[in-house]
Amino acid sequence: MRIVLLGPPGAGKGTQAKSISNRYSIPHISTGDIFRKNISEQTPLGIEAKKHIDKGHLVPDDLTIDIVKDRLSQRDCDKGFLLDGFPRTVRQAEALEEFLSSKGKKLNTALLIDVPRDFILERMTGRRVCPACGASYHIKFNPPAIEGRCDLCGTDIIQRKDDKESTVKERLDVYDSQTQPLIDYYKSKDLLSVVYGTKAINEVFESICNILGSDRNGNN
Ligand code: ADP
Ligand code: AMP
Repeated sequence: MRIVLLGPPGAGKGTQAKSISNRYSIPHISTGDIFRKNISEQTPLGIEAKKHIDKGHLVPDDLTIDIVKDRLSQRDCDKGFLLDGFPRTVRQAEALEEFLSSKGKKLNTALLIDVPRDFILERMTGRRVCPACGASYHIKFNPPAIEGRCDLCGTDIIQRKDDKESTVKERLDVYDSQTQPLIDYYKSKDLLSVVYGTKAINEVFESICNILGSDRNGNN
């Protein structure tokens, strides 16, 4: 199964991606996670990406497309993948389509998690992440068992620098101008499915499974 997850920042893509990846046994590929790992390791890619991410802007297409092509060329993607946060521009979507068609493959679904703007700010400013293992929480909607500590590894959880209110507003503008056109792009290719992301996390997951079907080996 080859899936892309669409939706504004804070829609719940990363949260749902972890469950989808477990349920359907396909790798979860988050370009945001790849950039953050490179930033923490201070690689040349991380140093370049940070300049854009801290301002709430997109990392340039050429750089991002190359990273995704490399990742999709790894063996674990042979049986499928779940892309979270990519594509974010029409150019990225076209590059993905070309890459897959050069391998005789295509996407099964572009799954949009639709969340109105009113919900987003509270979700993003309340998000906390574990700097060690990447687990994600929300101070109100999905708090860890012990306040401020990661459930999985016990590390102190932090707020992402780009989740501060002023950067969130910039990221939402970038979404509207550069990423939202992907909804029509995938609709015109008859690949778009939509779930409403305003319900509780487990209910959103249930709606997603209803769309993706029951094959847990990722074969459909
Ligand atoms: P994205 O990957 O789309 O940017 P996340 O999955 O990180 O979004 O979710 C953003 C924040 O909203 C996180 O703090 C997460 O815990 C919280 N969240 C995700 N889904 C829901 C939901 N259905 N209801 C309430 N809060 C949610
Ligand atoms: P995310 O974790 O998906 O919220 O991404 C965090 C940030 O990484 C974004 O605000 C962008 O600056 C950058 N980023 C992630 N994915 C992409 C992409 N596909 N294209 C360009 N920039 C990206």
